[in-house]
Amino acid sequence: MNWTTRKDTKQINVGGVKIGGGADIVVQSMTNTDTRDVDATLNQINKLYNKGCEIVRCAVIDSDAAKALGIIKKHTPIPIIADIHFDHKLAIESIKSGSDCIRINPGNIGSFDKVRDIIRAAKEYSIPIRIGVNSGSLEKSLIDKYNGPTDKALVESAYNWIRRFEDEGFTNMKLSIKSSDAKTTILCYEQISKLVDYPLHLGVTEAGSGNEGIIKSVSALSVLLREGIGDTIRISLTESPIHEIDVCYELLNALHLRKKRSIDFVSCPTCGRIEIDLISLVNELKSRLKHIDIPIKVAVMGCVVNALGEAREADMAVAGGRHFGLIIEKGKIIKKVKENRLLDEFVKAVEDFVDRMRV
Ligand code: SF4
Repeated sequence: MNWTTRKDTKQINVGGVKIGGGADIVVQSMTNTDTRDVDATLNQINKLYNKGCEIVRCAVIDSDAAKALGIIKKHTPIPIIADIHFDHKLAIESIKSGSDCIRINPGNIGSFDKVRDIIRAAKEYSIPIRIGVNSGSLEKSLIDKYNGPTDKALVESAYNWIRRFEDEGFTNMKLSIKSSDAKTTILCYEQISKLVDYPLHLGVTEAGSGNEGIIKSVSALSVLLREGIGDTIRISLTESPIHEIDVCYELLNALHLRKKRSIDFVSCPTCGRIEIDLISLVNELKSRLKHIDIPIKVAVMGCVVNALGEAREADMAVAGGRHFGLIIEKGKIIKKVKENRLLDEFVKAVEDFVDRMRV
């Protein structure tokens, strides 16, 4: 299935989910609820899980949040990563609460003795650590050396941390190097993937929202995934984390790296030949068929010019005409329907097709 040759990385296990070593690229997100609010956090985790999220990260802002993780852990359907900044005691508490992994940015934990305490606890509880390096908390010495938080500075920081963890006899780790700049992200991961063979978590941090956020993330991650780099991904958006999962799967599906859990729609851009309201039709179809959780291909075409060609590649297709539409299954016209019935009839035809596939 893969058209990329994945870089060979070690495999780690985060609460039963394999990362690296040829395993499927794992889809992650992060809750934006207050972790201390166990019900709200579990509610969001369940929504993420239902969308296909495979690992979720929760912010641990204080000791109550670390304790809450213990309860969340008992009910979550997917592994939990405790997200720690600054306070090594919160990392240790979260490990003891049952977190499946700890994400730290060693550069903001303080002395290495504190980092060492986290490593010791992770070893004792046999859980991995994600080392996060990002431009916002880069060591001053490297900023001075490279004249800013450049890709080279970030890579040197990441490499140094990995070696320090290895010096402690710790290798159960994965790595992320985050920048809010897509090009810097690409350069960082390209370089670090040549230096170490730990699994890599890809993402563009603080990418933003809407088209801007999606394009920044997808442009960087597409290049890297095509080069075989990356074992797990997050698309960070200033939006509901549920939407992040949709974008992750769209990306992986587009690159033929994972199948998404919904219909793969193909639709024409419309032009002067159009004779039906295709934009409304596509939006209505997406809404009415969003319960379909298998990746069949559905083509929605404005006229017959390209419809029959597209329809041959699709499981189901609809092509508009003057006041009517053709419903096509596996390249064969099965019905000609008046425009005012087209939406209902096509929804029914797709649902019938899916029912037959499930048998
Ligand atoms: S399928 Fe028909 S309406 Fe759609 S862009 Fe092509 S020619 Fe235009």
